[in-house]
Amino acid sequence: KVRTRFAPSPTGYMHIGNLRTALYAYLLAKANGGDFVLRIEDTDQERYVDGAVDLIFKTMKETGLIHDEGPDIGGPYGPYIQSERRNIYKEYAQKLVELGGAYYCFCDKERLDALRAQQETAKVMPKYDGHCARLSKEEIEEKLASGVPYVIRQKIPRRGTTTFYDEIFGKITVDNATLDDNVLLKSDGLPTYNFANVIDDHLMNITHIIRGSEYLSSTPKYNLLYETFGWEIPTYIHVSPVMKDAHKKLSKREGDASYEDFINKGYLKDAIINYIALLGWSPGGEQEIFTMDELIKAFNLEGISKSPAIFDIQKLNWLNGEYIRKLSSDEFHELALPYIRQAVKTDTIDTHKISDLLHQRCEKLSDIPEQIDFFDTLPEYSPELYCHKKMKTNEENSLSSLQAVLPVLENLSDWTFDAIHTALFDLIAKLEVKNGIILWPLRVAVSGKSFTPGGGVELADILGKEETLNRIRKGIE
Ligand code: GLU
Repeated sequence: KVRTRFAPSPTGYMHIGNLRTALYAYLLAKANGGDFVLRIEDTDQERYVDGAVDLIFKTMKETGLIHDEGPDIGGPYGPYIQSERRNIYKEYAQKLVELGGAYYCFCDKERLDALRAQQETAKVMPKYDGHCARLSKEEIEEKLASGVPYVIRQKIPRRGTTTFYDEIFGKITVDNATLDDNVLLKSDGLPTYNFANVIDDHLMNITHIIRGSEYLSSTPKYNLLYETFGWEIPTYIHVSPVMKDAHKKLSKREGDASYEDFINKGYLKDAIINYIALLGWSPGGEQEIFTMDELIKAFNLEGISKSPAIFDIQKLNWLNGEYIRKLSSDEFHELALPYIRQAVKTDTIDTHKISDLLHQRCEKLSDIPEQIDFFDTLPEYSPELYCHKKMKTNEENSLSSLQAVLPVLENLSDWTFDAIHTALFDLIAKLEVKNGIILWPLRVAVSGKSFTPGGGVELADILGKEETLNRIRKGIE
Protein backbone atom coordinates (compact mmCIF):
# COMPACT_ATOMS: atom_id res chain seq x y z
CA LYS A 1 0.00 0.00 0.00
CA VAL A 2 1.30 3.44 -0.94
CA ARG A 3 1.94 5.61 2.09
CA THR A 4 3.13 9.18 1.79
CA ARG A 5 3.65 11.84 4.37
CA PHE A 6 3.77 15.57 4.80
CA ALA A 7 6.30 16.49 7.45
CA PRO A 8 6.18 20.23 8.07
CA SER A 9 8.14 22.04 10.74
CA PRO A 10 5.94 24.37 12.76
CA THR A 11 7.34 27.66 11.48
CA GLY A 12 4.19 29.71 11.84
CA TYR A 13 3.40 29.98 8.16
CA MET A 14 2.75 27.63 5.26
CA HIS A 15 5.28 28.18 2.52
CA ILE A 16 3.81 27.74 -0.94
CA GLY A 17 6.56 25.25 -1.80
CA ASN A 18 5.73 23.17 1.26
CA LEU A 19 2.04 23.25 0.51
CA ARG A 20 2.83 22.02 -2.98
CA THR A 21 4.89 19.15 -1.54
CA ALA A 22 1.95 18.31 0.72
CA LEU A 23 -0.40 18.38 -2.25
CA TYR A 24 1.79 16.08 -4.33
CA ALA A 25 2.13 13.67 -1.42
CA TYR A 26 -1.63 13.72 -0.93
CA LEU A 27 -2.31 13.20 -4.64
CA LEU A 28 0.16 10.36 -4.95
CA ALA A 29 -1.38 8.55 -1.99
CA LYS A 30 -4.95 9.09 -3.12
CA ALA A 31 -4.20 8.25 -6.76
CA ASN A 32 -3.05 4.85 -5.51
CA GLY A 33 -5.69 4.26 -2.89
CA GLY A 34 -3.04 4.81 -0.23
CA ASP A 35 -2.64 6.71 3.02
CA PHE A 36 -1.48 10.24 3.58
CA VAL A 37 0.22 10.86 6.91
CA LEU A 38 0.81 14.16 8.69
CA ARG A 39 3.88 14.33 10.91
CA ILE A 40 5.00 17.40 12.80
CA GLU A 41 8.78 17.89 12.78
CA ASP A 42 9.37 20.03 15.84
CA THR A 43 12.75 18.84 17.07
CA ASP A 44 14.29 22.25 16.54
CA GLN A 45 12.99 23.69 19.80
CA GLU A 46 14.60 27.08 19.23
CA ARG A 47 12.42 27.62 16.22
CA TYR A 48 9.24 26.79 18.10
CA VAL A 49 6.38 29.17 17.29
CA ASP A 50 3.17 29.32 19.29
CA GLY A 51 0.07 28.29 17.38
CA ALA A 52 2.11 27.01 14.46
CA VAL A 53 0.81 23.46 14.66
CA ASP A 54 -2.79 24.65 14.68
CA LEU A 55 -2.05 26.69 11.61
CA ILE A 56 -0.85 23.54 9.85
CA PHE A 57 -4.05 21.68 10.79
CA LYS A 58 -6.17 24.60 9.69
CA THR A 59 -4.46 25.04 6.34
CA MET A 60 -4.66 21.37 5.47
CA LYS A 61 -8.30 21.19 6.38
CA GLU A 62 -9.11 24.33 4.45
CA THR A 63 -7.32 23.18 1.32
CA GLY A 64 -8.82 19.71 1.44
CA LEU A 65 -5.55 17.88 2.05
CA ILE A 66 -7.13 15.50 4.49
CA HIS A 67 -4.69 13.21 6.26
CA ASP A 68 -5.48 9.66 7.28
CA GLU A 69 -3.14 9.69 10.26
CA GLY A 70 -1.72 12.53 12.25
CA PRO A 71 -1.27 14.12 15.66
CA ASP A 72 -4.87 15.32 15.86
CA ILE A 73 -6.53 12.09 14.77
CA GLY A 74 -3.97 9.48 15.79
CA GLY A 75 -3.26 6.31 13.89
CA PRO A 76 -1.40 3.04 14.26
CA TYR A 77 2.10 4.52 14.00
CA GLY A 78 1.90 7.41 16.47
CA PRO A 79 2.86 9.59 18.10
CA TYR A 80 3.00 11.82 15.03
CA ILE A 81 4.80 14.71 16.71
CA GLN A 82 8.54 14.25 16.80
CA SER A 83 9.06 15.85 20.19
CA GLU A 84 6.88 13.08 21.63
CA ARG A 85 9.09 10.41 20.09
CA ARG A 86 12.38 11.19 21.80
CA ASN A 87 12.67 7.78 23.44
CA ILE A 88 12.29 6.11 20.08
CA TYR A 89 15.15 8.14 18.56
CA LYS A 90 17.37 7.49 21.52
CA GLU A 91 16.78 3.78 21.28
CA TYR A 92 17.54 3.68 17.58
CA ALA A 93 20.57 5.90 17.93
CA GLN A 94 22.02 3.47 20.46
CA LYS A 95 21.15 0.58 18.19
CA LEU A 96 22.96 2.31 15.36
CA VAL A 97 26.04 2.73 17.54
CA GLU A 98 25.98 -1.01 18.22
CA LEU A 99 25.63 -1.70 14.52
CA GLY A 100 28.68 0.44 13.81
CA GLY A 101 26.78 3.11 11.92
CA ALA A 102 27.25 5.84 14.52
CA TYR A 103 29.43 6.85 17.46
CA TYR A 104 29.41 8.98 20.59
CA CYS A 105 31.10 12.31 20.21
CA PHE A 106 32.19 14.30 23.26
CA CYS A 107 33.86 17.18 21.48
CA ASP A 108 33.00 20.47 23.12
CA LYS A 109 32.18 23.69 21.37
CA GLU A 110 35.72 24.98 21.72
CA ARG A 111 37.24 22.06 19.92
CA LEU A 112 34.65 22.21 17.14
CA ASP A 113 35.10 25.97 16.73
CA ALA A 114 38.87 25.57 16.52
CA LEU A 115 38.48 22.79 13.98
CA ARG A 116 36.19 24.91 11.86
CA ALA A 117 38.52 27.91 12.01
CA GLN A 118 41.41 25.72 10.96
CA GLN A 119 39.45 24.34 8.03
CA GLU A 120 38.39 27.79 7.00
CA THR A 121 41.99 28.97 6.92
CA ALA A 122 43.01 25.91 4.94
CA LYS A 123 40.03 26.52 2.65
CA VAL A 124 38.81 22.96 2.93
CA MET A 125 35.23 21.82 3.30
CA PRO A 126 34.07 22.19 6.92
CA LYS A 127 33.64 18.65 8.18
CA TYR A 128 33.94 16.81 11.45
CA ASP A 129 37.37 15.16 11.60
CA GLY A 130 36.28 11.87 13.12
CA HIS A 131 38.20 12.45 16.35
CA CYS A 132 35.72 10.65 18.61
CA ALA A 133 35.25 7.80 16.14
CA ARG A 134 38.72 6.72 17.24
CA LEU A 135 38.06 6.66 20.99
CA SER A 136 38.49 3.32 22.66
CA LYS A 137 35.61 1.49 24.23
CA GLU A 138 37.03 2.25 27.71
CA GLU A 139 37.40 5.93 27.00
CA ILE A 140 33.81 6.11 25.82
CA GLU A 141 32.47 4.24 28.82
CA GLU A 142 34.43 6.37 31.22
CA LYS A 143 33.14 9.60 29.69
CA LEU A 144 29.56 8.35 29.63
CA ALA A 145 29.86 7.26 33.27
CA SER A 146 31.17 10.63 34.37
CA GLY A 147 28.37 12.43 32.58
CA VAL A 148 30.32 14.27 29.87
CA PRO A 149 27.75 15.72 27.45
CA TYR A 150 27.69 13.94 24.13
CA VAL A 151 26.07 13.83 20.73
CA ILE A 152 25.73 10.82 18.48
CA ARG A 153 27.23 11.18 15.03
CA GLN A 154 26.73 9.18 11.91
CA LYS A 155 29.75 7.12 10.95
CA ILE A 156 30.21 7.58 7.23
CA PRO A 157 32.54 5.09 5.50
CA ARG A 158 35.77 6.90 4.63
CA ARG A 159 36.01 5.23 1.25
CA GLY A 160 33.72 4.16 -1.53
CA THR A 161 30.61 5.69 -3.02
CA THR A 162 26.94 5.74 -2.22
CA THR A 163 24.32 5.50 -4.94
CA PHE A 164 20.63 6.10 -4.75
CA TYR A 165 17.81 6.52 -7.20
CA ASP A 166 15.46 9.45 -7.31
CA GLU A 167 12.27 9.32 -9.40
CA ILE A 168 12.83 12.82 -10.72
CA PHE A 169 16.60 13.19 -10.79
CA GLY A 170 17.54 9.63 -11.66
CA LYS A 171 20.57 7.77 -10.40
CA ILE A 172 22.88 9.79 -8.17
CA THR A 173 26.28 8.65 -6.92
CA VAL A 174 28.46 10.49 -4.43
CA ASP A 175 31.88 9.88 -2.95
CA ASN A 176 31.54 9.00 0.70
CA ALA A 177 34.59 11.16 1.38
CA THR A 178 32.47 14.23 0.65
CA LEU A 179 29.90 13.34 3.32
CA ASP A 180 30.13 14.72 6.83
CA ASP A 181 29.68 12.69 10.03
CA ASN A 182 26.55 14.63 10.90
CA VAL A 183 25.04 14.81 14.35
CA LEU A 184 22.08 12.45 14.60
CA LEU A 185 21.19 12.92 18.24
CA LYS A 186 21.88 16.25 19.89
CA SER A 187 23.14 16.73 23.43
CA ASP A 188 19.60 17.58 24.55
CA GLY A 189 18.58 14.07 23.49
CA LEU A 190 16.56 15.28 20.53
CA PRO A 191 17.33 14.05 17.03
CA THR A 192 18.30 16.19 14.08
CA TYR A 193 16.23 16.10 10.93
CA ASN A 194 18.96 13.91 9.43
CA PHE A 195 18.11 11.14 11.84
CA ALA A 196 14.47 11.63 12.70
CA ASN A 197 13.27 11.60 9.10
CA VAL A 198 14.80 8.17 8.47
CA ILE A 199 13.56 6.62 11.70
CA ASP A 200 10.07 8.00 11.31
CA ASP A 201 9.69 7.27 7.62
CA HIS A 202 10.70 3.69 8.32
CA LEU A 203 8.61 3.18 11.45
CA MET A 204 5.60 4.83 9.84
CA ASN A 205 5.91 2.55 6.82
CA ILE A 206 6.28 5.42 4.38
CA THR A 207 6.75 4.07 0.86
CA HIS A 208 7.22 7.28 -1.12
CA ILE A 209 9.09 10.31 0.17
CA ILE A 210 8.18 13.55 -1.54
CA ARG A 211 10.19 16.53 -0.38
CA GLY A 212 12.10 19.55 -1.61
CA SER A 213 15.24 19.03 -3.67
CA GLU A 214 17.28 20.81 -0.97
CA TYR A 215 17.36 17.39 0.70
CA LEU A 216 18.84 15.69 -2.35
CA SER A 217 22.42 16.21 -1.24
CA SER A 218 21.77 14.63 2.18
CA THR A 219 19.91 11.65 0.81
CA PRO A 220 23.04 9.48 0.43
CA LYS A 221 23.53 9.77 4.19
CA TYR A 222 19.96 8.66 4.79
CA ASN A 223 20.53 5.78 2.43
CA LEU A 224 23.51 4.66 4.48
CA LEU A 225 21.32 4.70 7.59
CA TYR A 226 18.65 2.54 5.94
CA GLU A 227 21.36 0.15 4.83
CA THR A 228 22.99 -0.13 8.23
CA PHE A 229 19.65 -0.86 9.84
CA GLY A 230 18.88 -3.29 7.05
CA TRP A 231 15.68 -1.45 6.19
CA GLU A 232 13.97 -1.19 2.85
CA ILE A 233 14.81 2.04 1.04
CA PRO A 234 11.72 4.09 0.14
CA THR A 235 11.04 5.65 -3.24
CA TYR A 236 12.52 9.14 -3.34
CA ILE A 237 10.79 11.96 -5.16
CA HIS A 238 12.64 15.25 -4.82
CA VAL A 239 10.88 18.26 -6.27
CA SER A 240 12.58 21.44 -7.41
CA PRO A 241 11.92 24.70 -5.65
CA VAL A 242 9.35 27.31 -6.50
CA MET A 243 11.07 30.50 -7.60
CA LYS A 244 9.92 34.06 -7.98
CA ASP A 245 12.04 34.40 -11.11
CA ALA A 246 15.15 32.79 -12.52
CA HIS A 247 17.29 33.90 -9.56
CA LYS A 248 15.14 34.72 -6.59
CA LYS A 249 13.17 32.49 -4.28
CA LEU A 250 9.75 33.45 -3.07
CA SER A 251 10.34 35.61 -0.06
CA LYS A 252 8.48 35.73 3.17
CA ARG A 253 9.38 39.35 3.67
CA GLU A 254 7.95 40.46 0.36
CA GLY A 255 4.72 38.67 1.22
CA ASP A 256 4.71 36.28 -1.67
CA ALA A 257 5.87 33.07 -0.05
CA SER A 258 3.12 31.70 2.08
CA TYR A 259 -0.36 30.35 1.59
CA GLU A 260 -1.66 32.93 4.08
CA ASP A 261 -0.12 35.74 2.02
CA PHE A 262 -2.20 34.66 -0.94
CA ILE A 263 -5.35 34.17 1.10
CA ASN A 264 -4.89 37.66 2.53
CA LYS A 265 -4.56 39.04 -0.96
CA GLY A 266 -7.95 37.61 -1.78
CA TYR A 267 -7.13 34.46 -3.69
CA LEU A 268 -9.47 31.51 -3.28
CA LYS A 269 -8.12 28.36 -1.68
CA ASP A 270 -9.30 26.15 -4.53
CA ALA A 271 -7.61 28.39 -7.06
CA ILE A 272 -4.37 28.35 -5.06
CA ILE A 273 -4.42 24.55 -4.88
CA ASN A 274 -5.20 24.24 -8.58
CA TYR A 275 -2.42 26.68 -9.39
CA ILE A 276 0.27 25.07 -7.25
CA ALA A 277 -0.63 21.65 -8.63
CA LEU A 278 0.51 22.96 -12.01
CA LEU A 279 3.57 24.61 -10.54
CA GLY A 280 6.18 22.07 -11.51
CA TRP A 281 3.81 19.33 -12.61
CA SER A 282 2.25 19.10 -16.00
CA PRO A 283 -0.87 17.01 -16.58
CA GLY A 284 0.12 16.62 -20.22
CA GLY A 285 -3.11 17.82 -21.83
CA GLU A 286 -4.84 21.11 -22.41
CA GLN A 287 -6.90 21.08 -19.24
CA GLU A 288 -5.87 23.69 -16.68
CA ILE A 289 -8.79 23.80 -14.30
CA PHE A 290 -8.93 20.79 -12.02
CA THR A 291 -11.02 19.87 -9.04
CA MET A 292 -9.23 17.89 -6.35
CA ASP A 293 -10.82 14.68 -7.64
CA GLU A 294 -9.65 15.44 -11.15
CA LEU A 295 -6.15 16.11 -9.84
CA ILE A 296 -6.15 12.76 -8.06
CA LYS A 297 -7.12 11.03 -11.31
CA ALA A 298 -4.60 12.93 -13.43
CA PHE A 299 -1.61 12.98 -11.09
CA ASN A 300 1.51 11.06 -12.05
CA LEU A 301 5.19 11.31 -11.25
CA GLU A 302 6.22 11.54 -14.92
CA GLY A 303 4.68 15.00 -15.11
CA ILE A 304 6.88 16.43 -12.35
CA SER A 305 9.52 18.73 -13.72
CA LYS A 306 13.19 18.63 -12.84
CA SER A 307 13.75 22.34 -13.31
CA PRO A 308 12.63 24.95 -10.79
CA ALA A 309 9.11 26.26 -11.22
CA ILE A 310 8.67 29.98 -11.73
CA PHE A 311 5.72 31.46 -9.93
CA ASP A 312 3.50 33.04 -12.56
CA ILE A 313 1.25 35.52 -10.83
CA GLN A 314 -0.62 36.35 -14.07
CA LYS A 315 -1.65 32.77 -14.40
CA LEU A 316 -2.74 32.57 -10.78
CA ASN A 317 -4.79 35.74 -11.30
CA TRP A 318 -6.45 34.25 -14.35
CA LEU A 319 -7.20 30.98 -12.58
CA ASN A 320 -8.52 32.82 -9.56
CA GLY A 321 -10.84 34.83 -11.80
CA GLU A 322 -12.12 31.57 -13.28
CA TYR A 323 -12.85 30.21 -9.81
CA ILE A 324 -14.56 33.43 -8.79
CA ARG A 325 -16.85 33.31 -11.82
CA LYS A 326 -17.86 29.78 -10.94
CA LEU A 327 -19.21 30.90 -7.55
CA SER A 328 -22.89 31.61 -7.13
CA SER A 329 -23.88 35.19 -6.61
CA ASP A 330 -24.44 34.57 -2.88
CA GLU A 331 -21.15 32.75 -2.43
CA PHE A 332 -19.31 35.57 -4.10
CA HIS A 333 -21.11 38.16 -2.00
CA GLU A 334 -20.10 36.40 1.18
CA LEU A 335 -16.43 36.35 0.16
CA ALA A 336 -16.46 39.85 -1.26
CA LEU A 337 -18.32 41.52 1.60
CA PRO A 338 -15.32 42.15 3.87
CA TYR A 339 -13.50 43.76 0.95
CA ILE A 340 -16.54 45.77 -0.05
CA ARG A 341 -16.86 46.95 3.53
CA GLN A 342 -13.27 48.15 3.55
CA ALA A 343 -14.30 50.80 1.06
CA VAL A 344 -18.04 51.20 1.48
CA LYS A 345 -19.27 52.03 4.98
CA THR A 346 -22.55 53.69 3.99
CA ASP A 347 -25.12 51.24 5.28
CA THR A 348 -27.94 52.24 2.95
CA ILE A 349 -25.98 50.86 0.04
CA ASP A 350 -26.95 47.42 -1.20
CA THR A 351 -23.75 45.40 -1.15
CA HIS A 352 -25.37 42.59 -3.15
CA LYS A 353 -25.75 44.93 -6.08
CA ILE A 354 -22.11 45.92 -5.80
CA SER A 355 -20.93 42.34 -5.61
CA ASP A 356 -23.07 41.43 -8.63
CA LEU A 357 -21.35 44.20 -10.58
CA LEU A 358 -17.92 42.95 -9.53
CA HIS A 359 -18.51 39.25 -9.84
CA GLN A 360 -17.79 38.69 -13.52
CA ARG A 361 -14.72 40.91 -13.71
CA CYS A 362 -12.99 40.27 -10.42
CA GLU A 363 -9.60 38.54 -10.52
CA LYS A 364 -8.86 38.82 -6.86
CA LEU A 365 -10.79 40.02 -3.87
CA SER A 366 -8.17 42.49 -2.69
CA ASP A 367 -8.67 44.50 -5.90
CA ILE A 368 -12.20 45.29 -4.79
CA PRO A 369 -11.82 48.23 -2.36
CA GLU A 370 -10.08 50.57 -4.76
CA GLN A 371 -12.57 49.77 -7.51
CA ILE A 372 -15.53 50.90 -5.44
CA ASP A 373 -14.19 53.51 -3.04
CA PHE A 374 -16.23 56.22 -4.81
CA PHE A 375 -19.51 54.87 -3.42
CA ASP A 376 -18.76 56.40 -0.04
CA THR A 377 -17.24 59.65 -1.19
CA LEU A 378 -16.99 61.17 -4.59
CA PRO A 379 -13.30 61.68 -5.28
CA GLU A 380 -11.89 64.93 -6.64
CA TYR A 381 -11.75 64.47 -10.39
CA SER A 382 -10.54 66.37 -13.36
CA PRO A 383 -13.07 67.63 -15.94
CA GLU A 384 -10.89 65.93 -18.51
CA LEU A 385 -12.48 62.64 -17.54
CA TYR A 386 -15.54 63.84 -19.44
CA CYS A 387 -13.59 63.74 -22.69
CA HIS A 388 -13.85 60.29 -24.22
CA LYS A 389 -12.94 59.78 -27.84
CA LYS A 390 -14.97 56.70 -28.53
CA MET A 391 -18.01 58.03 -26.72
CA LYS A 392 -17.58 61.30 -28.61
CA THR A 393 -17.87 63.30 -25.44
CA ASN A 394 -16.11 66.46 -24.41
CA GLU A 395 -16.52 68.90 -21.53
CA GLU A 396 -19.15 70.92 -23.36
CA ASN A 397 -21.52 68.24 -24.55
CA SER A 398 -21.08 66.46 -21.23
CA LEU A 399 -22.27 69.54 -19.42
CA SER A 400 -25.40 69.78 -21.55
CA SER A 401 -26.01 66.06 -21.14
CA LEU A 402 -25.87 66.35 -17.36
CA GLN A 403 -28.18 69.37 -17.52
CA ALA A 404 -30.65 67.28 -19.52
CA VAL A 405 -30.31 64.24 -17.27
CA LEU A 406 -30.83 66.11 -14.00
CA PRO A 407 -34.54 67.04 -14.39
CA VAL A 408 -35.35 63.64 -15.84
CA LEU A 409 -33.95 61.88 -12.78
CA GLU A 410 -35.34 64.48 -10.40
CA ASN A 411 -38.80 63.66 -11.69
CA LEU A 412 -38.35 59.94 -11.34
CA SER A 413 -40.42 58.68 -8.44
CA ASP A 414 -39.56 55.02 -8.77
CA TRP A 415 -35.77 54.66 -8.22
CA THR A 416 -34.95 51.26 -9.69
CA PHE A 417 -32.49 50.12 -12.31
CA ASP A 418 -35.28 49.58 -14.81
CA ALA A 419 -36.91 52.93 -14.18
CA ILE A 420 -33.63 54.83 -14.47
CA HIS A 421 -32.75 52.87 -17.58
CA THR A 422 -36.07 53.55 -19.28
CA ALA A 423 -36.00 57.23 -18.40
CA LEU A 424 -32.49 57.74 -19.73
CA PHE A 425 -33.10 55.80 -22.92
CA ASP A 426 -36.26 57.80 -23.53
CA LEU A 427 -34.13 60.90 -23.16
CA ILE A 428 -31.52 59.51 -25.56
CA ALA A 429 -34.23 58.80 -28.12
CA LYS A 430 -35.75 62.22 -27.69
CA LEU A 431 -32.41 64.00 -28.11
CA GLU A 432 -31.42 61.69 -30.95
CA VAL A 433 -27.91 61.22 -29.57
CA LYS A 434 -25.71 58.19 -29.13
CA ASN A 435 -25.99 56.36 -25.79
CA GLY A 436 -22.50 57.33 -24.75
CA ILE A 437 -23.24 61.04 -24.99
CA ILE A 438 -25.58 60.67 -22.04
CA LEU A 439 -24.22 57.64 -20.21
CA TRP A 440 -20.52 58.52 -20.12
CA PRO A 441 -20.99 61.90 -18.45
CA LEU A 442 -23.38 60.31 -15.99
CA ARG A 443 -20.84 57.64 -15.08
CA VAL A 444 -18.09 60.22 -14.56
CA ALA A 445 -20.31 62.54 -12.58
CA VAL A 446 -21.43 59.88 -10.14
CA SER A 447 -18.10 58.08 -9.74
CA GLY A 448 -15.34 60.58 -10.51
CA LYS A 449 -13.61 57.73 -12.32
CA SER A 450 -13.27 56.50 -15.85
CA PHE A 451 -13.05 52.83 -14.87
CA THR A 452 -15.92 51.57 -12.79
CA PRO A 453 -17.61 48.25 -12.31
CA GLY A 454 -20.89 48.90 -14.08
CA GLY A 455 -22.07 51.94 -15.99
CA GLY A 456 -23.92 55.10 -15.04
CA VAL A 457 -27.32 53.45 -14.67
CA GLU A 458 -26.07 50.72 -12.37
CA LEU A 459 -24.09 53.16 -10.28
CA ALA A 460 -27.00 55.59 -9.98
CA ASP A 461 -29.28 52.75 -8.91
CA ILE A 462 -26.87 51.70 -6.15
CA LEU A 463 -26.09 55.23 -4.98
CA GLY A 464 -29.76 56.13 -4.53
CA LYS A 465 -31.66 59.11 -5.77
CA GLU A 466 -30.44 61.81 -3.47
CA GLU A 467 -26.78 61.01 -3.73
CA THR A 468 -26.97 60.60 -7.51
CA LEU A 469 -28.66 63.96 -7.95
CA ASN A 470 -26.13 65.64 -5.66
CA ARG A 471 -23.29 64.26 -7.69
CA ILE A 472 -24.82 65.30 -11.00
CA ARG A 473 -25.40 68.81 -9.63
CA LYS A 474 -21.78 68.91 -8.56
CA GLY A 475 -20.80 67.91 -12.11
CA ILE A 476 -22.77 70.78 -13.52
CA GLU A 477 -21.28 73.43 -11.22
N1 GLU B 1 10.52 19.21 8.24
C1 GLU B 1 11.08 19.28 6.94
C2 GLU B 1 10.75 20.62 6.32
O1 GLU B 1 9.80 21.24 6.72
C3 GLU B 1 10.48 18.18 6.11
C4 GLU B 1 11.27 17.72 4.99
C5 GLU B 1 10.71 16.39 4.53
O2 GLU B 1 9.64 16.39 3.91
O3 GLU B 1 11.31 15.37 4.82
O4 GLU B 1 11.46 21.06 5.45
